Amino acid sequence: MKKFLIILSVCMTCVNTANGQIINKTPLSIRQTGYKIDAKLDPSLKTVSGNMEAFWVNKSTDIVPDIQLHLYMNAFKSKNSTLYRESGGRLDYKDSDNGWIDIKSFTCGDGTDLIPRMQFISPDDGNLSDQTVLKVMLPEPALPGDTVFIKVSFETKLPSKIMRTGYTDDFYFVGQWFPKFGVYEYAGMRYATKGGWNCHQFHAHSEFYSNHSVYDVKITVPKEYIVGAGGMLISESDSDTGGKNKTLTYRAEDIVDFAWTAWPGFKVFTDQWEHVKITLLLPKVRGEQVERQFIAIKNALEYLAKNVGPYPWPYVTIVDPPAKGSGSGGMEYTTLFTSYSFYMVPKYIHLPEMVTIHEFGHAYFMGIMASNEFEEPWLDEGVNSYWEERIMDHYYGENSGMIDLSYLKIADKSLSRLSYVHSGGRQAASNKEFSWNYPHRTYGMMSYNKTATWLYTLMGIIGEETMNEVFREYYKKWAFKHPSGTDFTDVVNNVVKRIHGTRFGPDMNWFFDQTLYGTGICDYKVATFKNNKLETSKEQNDGADSVNETLMIHDSLYKSVVELERVGEVMLPVDVLVHFKNGEEVLESWDGKSRFKDFVYTGTRMIEWVKIDPEFKIRMDVNYINNSRTEKPDRVPLRRLTNKLISFLQFFISIVSI
Ligand SMILES: [Zn+2]
Repeated sequence: MKKFLIILSVCMTCVNTANGQIINKTPLSIRQTGYKIDAKLDPSLKTVSGNMEAFWVNKSTDIVPDIQLHLYMNAFKSKNSTLYRESGGRLDYKDSDNGWIDIKSFTCGDGTDLIPRMQFISPDDGNLSDQTVLKVMLPEPALPGDTVFIKVSFETKLPSKIMRTGYTDDFYFVGQWFPKFGVYEYAGMRYATKGGWNCHQFHAHSEFYSNHSVYDVKITVPKEYIVGAGGMLISESDSDTGGKNKTLTYRAEDIVDFAWTAWPGFKVFTDQWEHVKITLLLPKVRGEQVERQFIAIKNALEYLAKNVGPYPWPYVTIVDPPAKGSGSGGMEYTTLFTSYSFYMVPKYIHLPEMVTIHEFGHAYFMGIMASNEFEEPWLDEGVNSYWEERIMDHYYGENSGMIDLSYLKIADKSLSRLSYVHSGGRQAASNKEFSWNYPHRTYGMMSYNKTATWLYTLMGIIGEETMNEVFREYYKKWAFKHPSGTDFTDVVNNVVKRIHGTRFGPDMNWFFDQTLYGTGICDYKVATFKNNKLETSKEQNDGADSVNETLMIHDSLYKSVVELERVGEVMLPVDVLVHFKNGEEVLESWDGKSRFKDFVYTGTRMIEWVKIDPEFKIRMDVNYINNSRTEKPDRVPLRRLTNKLISFLQFFISIVSI
């Protein structure tokens, strides 16, 4: 053991008991990293100064010569940062709006000064002006099992024009604000890891990747400020004799990031769901939304606990930021998240509920299952959107989860599907790209909407109960670890095989190759159907008893043909419902593989209409209008109008939602 290293158990004890309180006696994660931070907000300078003690444990079998840390706030430091370059004008800053993080001192366990050993690196794009990743060479390499202990004093200047983090006037949302370890990956941690430090730069279109950690954080603010933070509030006390400032102490266990907010205008409400204390902070004028918000989060807690796994923390905090801080709305930090609403949102628009349910859901998909959001954002945003849509439509009406008016009802899942279907770039990218490389503005569509839509399609094929079992298994196997996409698809393959045998093939990779990793579209079409009178030969009628009867048989015999077509590249099994004029119906199954498919019926019945996928199981189908055909006067123009109206509404809602 090297001098600058502190034995793991000593370090863990030191961090675990920092505030004299442990929430969970048995750690939920392996706690490869931990942080103890003493932070103070200076509202006049818009800074947070902090003293931090932190550790990283080398769980690999490698000899590791360095540590790497995120300095996210430097993304706001200059117009040459990678975040700024990728933001497409969203960060139109004056210099006074900038944010940054300055390292004032940096030592390791034995007091060795690490500042001369610091170096900014840009592993993603080689941008030498980007200062969001810091590499620090250790005085001596960390051997397997060693714990590296660091002490850092830093000053963070918050940016204005909040983009996830920053301030407006006296409202502060403090995220990505302290030096934070990257993730040191090693064999077996997740599928096909390259090993070594995984520490990406701060990008406009990607989120984060972190170890589950323990946080002991003291926050000092002027007394009039109301504070919300991740974790559990342990104590609150005056921090100076004049009584101008107060210090709040928080402890959080096994969460992937720690964020906090401070604003004198917050009103605080609390509620309880089973073991979970719910704290809600919102502007005083939005009091009418308190009940809506509590109902929404309880719905999410109940549904995810039942169908995925238990919510493990005894606390959660919802922050509904004021209008001037809306740039911080709709963001997740595990046990603390921000919702999004405005004064007097009508009850028939379930926007605040949708954002609350979505952001809370991230407690599971990136909080508990802490995937690499930089590299596979669909694992958090897409999977979480799928669950958000299920929850919305379950509790607020299957066809009215998002808008519930007597003359207009829109399901949450329909909005997601429409965003995918109407995206011009839907074929442009596969999920094998990293999130900041998604071309043609496809990040949102790929990460959220396409993923939610193919997950619904998967549920249509394997069934809802099997899908729930997939997620229960995923939770059991990967909770408080770092699953990759392949780890998820492996779970699907195992569960489907266990429940359905080889009914869908040896595995479901044929599905993932086309939907998750493929760029093709799915579109099935009823080309036409015909009811042709049968031409019967004279000999066939020789046995008829009378001329009249023979004529009657001739008149009522038909050869009916349904002609189907696979227009898109994606091949999925579909049901086909054939309805005859006499009221009879036949439900056919088509494996959907060939370009053309006919179903032929001979008899006295005539086809009246045909519908592919009558239960809308294959939600990846980009065109529902050509899924059915009827003999009756076609209402296609009306349907087109309705479709356009829905698209317009979807566009409108996308402007006001996150
Ligand atoms: Zn999200």
